[in-house]
Amino acid sequence: MGAKIHIMQPELANRIAAGEVVQRPSSAVKELVENSLDAGAPKITVIVKDAGRSLIQVVDNGDGMAEDDALLAFRRHATSKISSAQDLENIRTLGFRGEALASISAVAQVELKTRIAADDVGTLLRIEGDTVKEHSKTALERGTTIIVRNLFYNTPARRQFLKTDHTELKSITDVVTRMAIAYPEVEWLYTSNDEVLLDLRKKSMEGRVADVFGERQFESLIRFNEKTEFMSVEGFICKPDFARKSRVDQFLYLNRRSIVSRMIQHAVFQAYEHLLEKGSFPFFILNLTIDPRKVDVNVHPSKLEVKFENESNVYRFVLSVVRRVLAEHDLFPAVAFTSGEATSRRDEPLRFERGNIPMTESQDVSGSAGSILSATALESATAVDIDELFARKREDIARTPIFPTRDDPTEAKSRVLQHVTQTSPMDSSQQGRAIWQTHNKYILSQIRTGLMIVDQHAAHERILYERAVANFENNLPFTQQLLFPQTVELSASDYGLAKELQPYFEKLGFAMKLFGKNTLVIEGIPADVRVGSEQRILQDVLDGYKNNEYNSTMDARDNLAKSFSCKAAIKAGDRLNTAEMISLIDHLFATQIPYVCPHGRPVVVKISIEELDRRFGRTS
Ligand code: ADP
Ligand code: MG
Repeated sequence: MGAKIHIMQPELANRIAAGEVVQRPSSAVKELVENSLDAGAPKITVIVKDAGRSLIQVVDNGDGMAEDDALLAFRRHATSKISSAQDLENIRTLGFRGEALASISAVAQVELKTRIAADDVGTLLRIEGDTVKEHSKTALERGTTIIVRNLFYNTPARRQFLKTDHTELKSITDVVTRMAIAYPEVEWLYTSNDEVLLDLRKKSMEGRVADVFGERQFESLIRFNEKTEFMSVEGFICKPDFARKSRVDQFLYLNRRSIVSRMIQHAVFQAYEHLLEKGSFPFFILNLTIDPRKVDVNVHPSKLEVKFENESNVYRFVLSVVRRVLAEHDLFPAVAFTSGEATSRRDEPLRFERGNIPMTESQDVSGSAGSILSATALESATAVDIDELFARKREDIARTPIFPTRDDPTEAKSRVLQHVTQTSPMDSSQQGRAIWQTHNKYILSQIRTGLMIVDQHAAHERILYERAVANFENNLPFTQQLLFPQTVELSASDYGLAKELQPYFEKLGFAMKLFGKNTLVIEGIPADVRVGSEQRILQDVLDGYKNNEYNSTMDARDNLAKSFSCKAAIKAGDRLNTAEMISLIDHLFATQIPYVCPHGRPVVVKISIEELDRRFGRTS
């Protein structure tokens, strides 16, 4: 008889459950503001005293509640937002668990005033624990006001775990700010101990971001917007020079719900690859729009974490969009020419947005070198506009070989030039394009804003690397068949490795036959590799691969992509003719990240006219 187990009183159960939803004042603020947003309020006011300990008040002019609903709202699992299991799969509101008001009233003294448009008077409720202490009518505009007093008054342990007022207030401010960014169409007023911390008019997205972060910061941001059928992403990313020392300034939303996701953070970070100094993190604001059926927001009571149906798709999507935005805006770290003084910082205005890239039908059609070169057509015979390089159709460029050569360099040259003459109306300008090779190592080219210097090896490496990665992800490799297949003899272990990696080599564009007895024959090589030294390249790639394998934990594909691009790329010391230089640069600017090689070293250095003027002491 003497049973030890009993069902706890609802009040106690509620108080325990409340801990999951309301961990600190900012979680109460978040829940209340979400309710106001779900009620469609055009204006929301948040008032806190003593970092929310003594008072949290949220006032909205949204839909309000009828008297019966107001009474129900404080019951656990009372919600107007979902009613079936199906609804749970398709959540379009911020709230849906029906536990916020129940939880808050379990651990604080709560006063609610609310009125719907159809009623003349509003309802006033005063609730403490599980009891309604007061229930009356009150005069009120349409909308809802909730006042939360003495949070955690009945849970001393919880109260003791709160941090300093400063920290708790910061957390509240963060919550309100995050919501205000996502809802620019809402007017916000936020005060702490009667001091106004945010006072935001209704704005466009840009206007809101400028208001919240200030004009200066706003200037450092690039707005972007990418829509696809299954997922869209829009927002702002910062130019690499304006990166932060912490991850605090990363604002991530899913269907306008503020969320945390290390996966997406990492995708953005990865997109900046080597553009950031160590220990720096990009500032970003990013809103993903995905069909609510394809995500689960009900992972945790705080609704901060989400689960995507297809994580790796989301990762790749974000990564490639951010990468492209950075590349299209020609962003790369400033090059300082004098110690201590940052010069040649890129301060030209951003010039093109995706979508208005000038492109004609005719440029769209073929993958021949001619179409690329004519697309590059230079109005002025001497200066290249980097934006034009970027603006051309990447796939077309990517489809043509960089060095359409056979072993004989003179033949190669005449072929390329012949091609140009045949197909490009601007043939003479190609030869007039101011481009030189110096020390058989760097390519100098005049650009509209000054001078560009390209490290030929690093440039080729970047091109090969991206091509290799793309090929591994199923693009068809391009192979140039060798007129004279090369027989290569390898050590037993290298032969074994070559055999193991053969499928990957083929994806890269190698055609080889294994003959046994440590002998293989190379019949074709990737289209982007200069013909002539395939034996050496194969051996070098294998060596590079072993080296990487020994020193790091790259996976096989990444390793091969890196060692291949490094070893197969032209070297310092390789002479290039004009057509090859032009082709190399065209291909470089068709890559995702032209400015850094796969090892993170710079590929391009630009010197602006202003920089040159400054160095020569010119004032004009
Ligand atoms: P949930 O938001 O998950 O539904 P809550 O406990 O936060 O659960 O709120 C319970 C219900 O109270 C909501 O579904 C909504 O109908 C109503 N409600 C709460 N706050 C407001 C508000 N500010 N304006 C209008 N209705 C509200
Ligand atoms: Mg809610």
